[in-house]
Amino acid sequence: MSVTRRGLVAGNWKMHGSRTANAALVAGVRAALAGSSIGLGAQDVSPEAAQGAYTGEWSGAMLRDVGCSHVIVGHSERRARHGESDALVARKAAAALAAGLVPIVCVGETLEERDGGATAAVVGRQLEAVLAGCGVEAFRTAVVAYEPVWAIGTGRTATPEQAQEIHALLRGLIAARDATIGGSVRLLYGGSVKAGNARDIFAMPDIDGGLIGGASLKADEFTAIVAAVPG
Ligand code: PEP
Repeated sequence: MSVTRRGLVAGNWKMHGSRTANAALVAGVRAALAGSSIGLGAQDVSPEAAQGAYTGEWSGAMLRDVGCSHVIVGHSERRARHGESDALVARKAAAALAAGLVPIVCVGETLEERDGGATAAVVGRQLEAVLAGCGVEAFRTAVVAYEPVWAIGTGRTATPEQAQEIHALLRGLIAARDATIGGSVRLLYGGSVKAGNARDIFAMPDIDGGLIGGASLKADEFTAIVAAVPG
């Protein structure tokens, strides 16, 4: 039995823009994507569910309150620059789910890890931490983004075959716990996706869309990437 998964393309604006610039960007995206469902997402969430004295943090409930439906957790920039562990990422995913947000759980290996033949072990460990912390049921809602660190913001993208290989592995790890959820979970690829390479990447059987950094800052480029999702 084949499963139809709805495509998803998320833009990660990072710490770019201004209210004026981003208003123009949003207007451009909305005009070009009329008829598509568009949601608002955040780039991080506190692992703490209840409000309290957590300076510099925002809870899932606060994100919901300002209209977010999705949140990125475990982006490699947070893992590398802010020392986020697999366990913390799992707690953030759990907090997002508890607040009714869709967590986009990022996993990915560094170039050193890829060259050392450790890709499967690294992404497997990162995903298993979330499976252990949140349970496989989480992936009825949660999305996974495979983002090789060496491809983020570098202009060097994984080949569609390299990305597909890891997506199949991630889907297999989830399917090993629950075949139905493994078949339905949405898996995104991220790492220097552009309008020019999106179609070939998104054509792969286990890739359901993308997490887009630099190219999401230009309405034309981003909407062309969205248009490259099959179906
Ligand atoms: C990202 O930061 O998640 C990302 C994929 O960036 P870029 O598309 O710029 O490589």
